[in-house]
Amino acid sequence: RSKSKGKDTFSFFSKDLQHAMHHRVEMEIKLRQAIENNSLAIYLQPKYDFNNKEITGAESLVRIVEENGNVIGPDEFIPLAEETGLIHQLGRQVLQKSCEFIARCNNEHQDVKVAVNVAAKQLANPGFADEVAEIIRSTGIEASSLELEVTESALMHDFEQTRDILIALTSLGITIALDDFGTGYSSLSYLRQFPLHVLKIDRSFVIDMDKEQQAHDIVTAIVHLALSLGLTIVAEGIETQSHFNSLKALGCHLGQGYFMCRPLAMNDFFIQFISNEEVV
Ligand code: C2E
Ligand code: MG
Ligand code: MG
Ligand code: MG
Repeated sequence: RSKSKGKDTFSFFSKDLQHAMHHRVEMEIKLRQAIENNSLAIYLQPKYDFNNKEITGAESLVRIVEENGNVIGPDEFIPLAEETGLIHQLGRQVLQKSCEFIARCNNEHQDVKVAVNVAAKQLANPGFADEVAEIIRSTGIEASSLELEVTESALMHDFEQTRDILIALTSLGITIALDDFGTGYSSLSYLRQFPLHVLKIDRSFVIDMDKEQQAHDIVTAIVHLALSLGLTIVAEGIETQSHFNSLKALGCHLGQGYFMCRPLAMNDFFIQFISNEEVV
């Protein structure tokens, strides 16, 4: 009796685990296929200037679009890509496609600045700056059209090497943004020790700023800090008119969020904001 009970218990947990493993294997297959077929999809979310509400650029956000049209978001496969090392190929493809998009906009005589997210492991690759330089060269874009978003945790790894890579990137003319500011193991010394141009206030502070005085105070402090350091401030996750008004009043430069526009598939972004062609 007790033996069979133990067996049932074992098989109960085993099924759960099997399901999780199966899901992971499936996701890894989808990810590998998307990378191999060069079919990772780039979505773009516009960044707006608080003062004139004009679009100054966009953030590049990767997705996997399945044949049935199902869209898989990055939170479902970026951690897996980092664990398996696929992040290097994924990152290169996202950069390549993002720079090709900039070139396509330039062909329409439109300047657009595109910000690409970079994972910690990519920054830890000593060849990363050369790889980026080669993509800029081959697509023929200006380095100043490209921004790279790094997180605080990416800066924590190998201080010397990370700084060298960021210096190499900035000397090409690329802009560096510190993403999700305030959520990692924040150290204000990062702001002095690394060449950074942009500070992105994390969505979690923005969401609470109208409800909680404390969140509002933190955003105020971050904005003052960034302004005094001469950094450009981008607020992410703006979902309401009230968020927009508060952040504008505080002196944030740029903002992005569902209130203004959701991330759009690259072609939709192009049609909506770039192409001058008349729609017949
Ligand atoms: P992130 O870089 O902080 O990007 C902002 C995320 O917030 C995006 O989620 C965006 O769709 C979402 N967002 C924008 N406005 C709003 C809003 O008003 N409300 C809410 N609730 N969300 C908003 P997404 O596209 O799912 O990306 C999630 C994360 O995945 C990104 O966070 C970034 O860390 C990572 N990621 C995305 N693309 C790449 C990539 O190409 N490479 C790497 N290494 N990471 C990427
Ligand atoms: Mg980002
Ligand atoms: Mg962010
Ligand atoms: Mg975020």
